Amino acid sequence: MKYLFKKIAYLATFSEKGDFENTSLVVEGNRITYIGHEIPNKKFDHVIDCSNMVMLPGFVNTHHHLYQSLTRNVRKVQNSKLFDWLVNLYEIWKNIDNESVYVSAAIASAEMALSGVTTTSDMLYLYPNNRNSLFDEEIKGVAHVGLRFHPTRGSMSMSKKDGGLPPDSVVQSEDEILSEYERVIGKYHDSSKYAMLRVALAPCSPFSVTKSLMIKTLEMAEKENVLLHTHLAETKDEDGFCLEKFGLKPVDYMEKIGWLNPRVWFAHLVHLSNKDIEKLRANDVGVSHCPSSNMRLGSGIAPITKMKGMRISLGVDGSASNDTGNMILEARNALLLQRVKYGADALTPKEVMKFATLGGAQVLRMDDYIGTLEIGKAADLITFDMNKIEFAGGLDDPLGAIVMCDAKKVDFNMVNGKMIVENGRLTIDDEKELIKTQNKISKKLLRG
Ligand SMILES: [Zn+2]
Repeated sequence: MKYLFKKIAYLATFSEKGDFENTSLVVEGNRITYIGHEIPNKKFDHVIDCSNMVMLPGFVNTHHHLYQSLTRNVRKVQNSKLFDWLVNLYEIWKNIDNESVYVSAAIASAEMALSGVTTTSDMLYLYPNNRNSLFDEEIKGVAHVGLRFHPTRGSMSMSKKDGGLPPDSVVQSEDEILSEYERVIGKYHDSSKYAMLRVALAPCSPFSVTKSLMIKTLEMAEKENVLLHTHLAETKDEDGFCLEKFGLKPVDYMEKIGWLNPRVWFAHLVHLSNKDIEKLRANDVGVSHCPSSNMRLGSGIAPITKMKGMRISLGVDGSASNDTGNMILEARNALLLQRVKYGADALTPKEVMKFATLGGAQVLRMDDYIGTLEIGKAADLITFDMNKIEFAGGLDDPLGAIVMCDAKKVDFNMVNGKMIVENGRLTIDDEKELIKTQNKISKKLLRG
């Protein structure tokens, strides 16, 4: 397919070339083949008038738990902090099955697509009674909507009986986990450029995974050359847990077991000393900042302003602690929350937009083909129509308007040359059916 995006009012490339006004962009197949002021004399399958549009690279979400869209806004944990929230929700989540994972992955992907996400990661860490096929179902659900996907094979190996937080029925043995790691990497991981699917490994957190599994996972990631991901330094409770169990605070524990490593990206990183930040920076660790979840659970404010210059990205986090999967809102919350702690000039709109685009691509090590709009890069792009009520009178900085004026959703979302949102609507044909099924499953899970 050949697309001409004609006369784009404002094009933010996030490349060294900067921003352009009144320019055109051509997509052929899955790539960008032209950016410039002339309109190429070619035959196009689709011509889209962008004279009222802002265009930018698609958003890259680096932390999520898609299945949690089944348990948003659960009344019982509406006002709980992380550990209490988890202990209550594990009891509901232990009943997830193939259908619930497929449907919730499709719903969460659709929601993200409307807010401009073109690539997402995910961490699925619950495999009740060794239901390993949940990972395969999640991949099918995301593919149905058409996002580029970098799932992580999550794991939990330390249940209550071993001093961890989760109940016995949702954790797995180390042998089972290691053999599943190998299976899913062999079956799904595509290291080639323009890959739509890559797999990383993700032991869930210091309080649900044994030290030996953390180390064995690192060894396997090195052998298979895949990335590593986990939650870290999210709450004060986690500090206490790590000090008691390992005699070290979270970042020091990671350092000791070899996890301060350029292969790793951490979600949250809220409770950090200046020394912790320097250790993370020195080891080129990636950051997934999840401000909505941190506010929702009262976890705290991550020191992102102090971490500038590192590979920083945004994560909406699981839908049970957000309780949306809206990347526009995540960027806005990142901007505003840093200003609460560090003042009005802590972060600029352009900086948070960079976290949401190129930053995400850098964290997932995919910036050789996504994250900027340049000739030869994958056609992962989004547009916002500026002729809308929320932007009226706010066009002095069209890119900044997306976060400052609180854009509601994208008008076009293209992934790898394929349109997944067109004129503000998803291109899948079963959206209503998915919503109905999701609500039915959610109700059943909550009933227990
Ligand atoms: Zn999370």
